[in-house]
Amino acid sequence: MATAMREVLICDFDDQLASATVNFMGPDGKMHQLDVCAGTLRDFIRKSHPPRRGRRPGIVVKRTAAKKATTKKASTRKRSRKRA
Ligand SMILES: [Zn+2]
Repeated sequence: MATAMREVLICDFDDQLASATVNFMGPDGKMHQLDVCAGTLRDFIRKSHPPRRGRRPGIVVKRTAAKKATTKKASTRKRSRKRA
């Protein structure tokens, strides 16, 4: 008898039949996937929060304060026109 190979996803947490796949980004910036059952998924959603926008707090990007050149040089440019 030929056993029909059915691809069955098992929850990565409690070995139950998975009904969903959770995608998340790891600290390495790569996407990862977890197969979860309905119960685990519900747990996930309950504990989750909407994604944070922007960069992590704490990292402050400081700009090197560029000295403003307030002194305007009176440019005395001589126009040199080529005469034919
Ligand atoms: Zn589960």
